[in-house]
Amino acid sequence: MSSLPAWRDALQQVLAAADALPCETVDTAACSGRVLAVSVHAPWDLPQAAVSTMDGWAVRAADVDTDDPVLAIAGESAAGRPSDRALRSRHAIRISTGAVLPDGADMVVPQEDTTRDGAQLRIDRARFGEVVAGRWLRARGSDFTEGEVVLESGLLLGPGDLALAASTGHETLVVHRRPVVAIVSTGDELVPLGTRPAPGQVVSSNGLMLAAQIEAAGGIAADRGIAPDDPIALRDALEDALQADIVVTSGGISVGDHDLVARTFADLGCAFEFHGVALRPGKPVAFGRAGGTMVFGLPGNPASSLVTFALFVRPALRRLLGVRGDVRPATIPVTLRNPAEGSGRRAHFVRARLHADSTATILASQVSGDLRSIRDFDAFVEVPAGVEAIPAGGRADAVLFDPWWMERRTA
Ligand code: AMP
Ligand code: MG
Repeated sequence: MSSLPAWRDALQQVLAAADALPCETVDTAACSGRVLAVSVHAPWDLPQAAVSTMDGWAVRAADVDTDDPVLAIAGESAAGRPSDRALRSRHAIRISTGAVLPDGADMVVPQEDTTRDGAQLRIDRARFGEVVAGRWLRARGSDFTEGEVVLESGLLLGPGDLALAASTGHETLVVHRRPVVAIVSTGDELVPLGTRPAPGQVVSSNGLMLAAQIEAAGGIAADRGIAPDDPIALRDALEDALQADIVVTSGGISVGDHDLVARTFADLGCAFEFHGVALRPGKPVAFGRAGGTMVFGLPGNPASSLVTFALFVRPALRRLLGVRGDVRPATIPVTLRNPAEGSGRRAHFVRARLHADSTATILASQVSGDLRSIRDFDAFVEVPAGVEAIPAGGRADAVLFDPWWMERRTA
């Protein structure tokens, strides 16, 4: 027991073995959540000409800098339809937001600061304030200049980044490939969804639970179904699965007579870096490598599967996807509404419900085979190894399972 690694150390071992996958070219529209592998440059100035930031009037500062400026109205520069005429002295050209500043103009007066009287425009100087060239304009190249890097390699692309890529004319982007994650659920007691289980059997649910976690993390889930606790059939299933970037197995990784996953992987050339972590639930979790494939043996109990995926598999998956930032499980500090028990030398991850005031309620059932709490939890509260208990009112770190947990509230 005492020789089991701490989960943070085990995670470091996993991350040390996780490298970004090779690149592919993908339509910009499909790049949300992907990681950029080649920096993107501006092929032209942004904006390409000075444009107005307001609906109003293009004018010359020199014409406006008087006590009661009155200008003659002449023409229009609309968005997408620039004025074909230059602005003459003592004139104003109608201009809309985003429209190109006509030649001869050097600033814009917002519509709200003017009154129109037929062909004449009076500018309310008191309202407008300081008269300086450049007001209410975005100058040419003020956002980005031609050749400048607009999106840096390594960036995790969000909606705004895609807008910037599109604005600079990039129809495709070079991003890291999404990891393919094969899932093998093992156990003679498992029956597939669609079959009513006899007593002693259970419907295999970990496969789709893991697939949902994989897809949410940006991976491509390849659920290979159920393999029995039989050395030959298991070997075939695992060998097949090793084609993927990551293999996740559920069940059969503990010390029982029918727990064949670790030795079968070893027969297939997998070198384990750890098998067993000072953790509850999830103690038997194993991690190793076979060729270029990362192999995770997760325990079969649903709660153990959930925790060990969140602590080890998701961070690895994010690295393979190319994420360079901190991929360790995100935590928030909480105050407990009720006590949480420790688990001796193991870190205890107790399933808890979060509240908007940053408090957490530890759920009553922490039995790792029970499904009720994996429905009801929002976060795992960590009672660190060696801590006997955290009392009600005590502070703890909670590993967030879903940042949008508040949306799950129905009332
Ligand atoms: P194991 O890790 O193989 O000892 O399995 C522990 C327990 O987890 C089993 O007794 C099952 O009840 C449950 N279990 C294992 N695999 C699955 C699965 N794919 N879906 C749902 N429950 C499972
Ligand atoms: Mg089993």
